[in-house]
Amino acid sequence: MRRARRLLLMLDYDGVLTPLVRHPRIARLPAAHRRLLRQLSRQPGTTVGVLSGRKLSELRAMVGVRGLIYGGNHGLELTGPVGRFVHPEARRSAALIRQLARHLAQAVGTIPGAWVEPKTLSLSLHYRGVRPGQRARLQQLFYRVVGPLVRQRRVRVTTGKRILEVRPPVAWDKGRALWWLLQRPSLRGAVPVFIGDDLTDEDAFRAIRRRGVGIRVGPVLRTAARYRLRSPREVAELLRRLQALGPRRP
Ligand SMILES: [Mg+2]
Repeated sequence: MRRARRLLLMLDYDGVLTPLVRHPRIARLPAAHRRLLRQLSRQPGTTVGVLSGRKLSELRAMVGVRGLIYGGNHGLELTGPVGRFVHPEARRSAALIRQLARHLAQAVGTIPGAWVEPKTLSLSLHYRGVRPGQRARLQQLFYRVVGPLVRQRRVRVTTGKRILEVRPPVAWDKGRALWWLLQRPSLRGAVPVFIGDDLTDEDAFRAIRRRGVGIRVGPVLRTAARYRLRSPREVAELLRRLQALGPRRP
């Protein structure tokens, strides 16, 4: 990272820039992290962005730093100084996903602690708050609604930390989003750094394995990332050290 002439530093949000909390709404970005992201993004030769499973508009509002790259819905939508992107097939599935969000909300409504989050191009079923004894029932209700559409390949399902997600049936993930970014003219030859903490971040680690630096946050046994950090606190420490390196010299 020290030697790179140009650095593309992309970070996941939840569990990386903020600790995981009971409800995603309260996962606020600490002011010190926001300041670091802003300072780093202003350093010549460093491009900074956040790539999350959250909806793009929400992610931008929560991070609130101008001039960053923002990737929502695991990279199905990207925006920032290097260009804009919305996956065209994902856009076409939006109506189906919206309808599915309504059906799911009804189906799991009887299970305390479960809730459905519509995210325009995808949806999440959160069950952090569901009692362990109820989780099998929740999965059953989920697949009763979503299963037929998966079999017809109209949607696909991914899993994460206490979350089930329904996404459009397109071969797109955080790794492909990173590749799309690396093909922008201003980022040609950049060394990608990706920091993530969850299963959906593994696509990104695999995608940049040869060319960049993958860092997984938290305790895990298996990961495609080459490096690890223990906590969001250590992520902030890394950002501080990168910032202290100063501008890059092409
Ligand atoms: Mg995360």
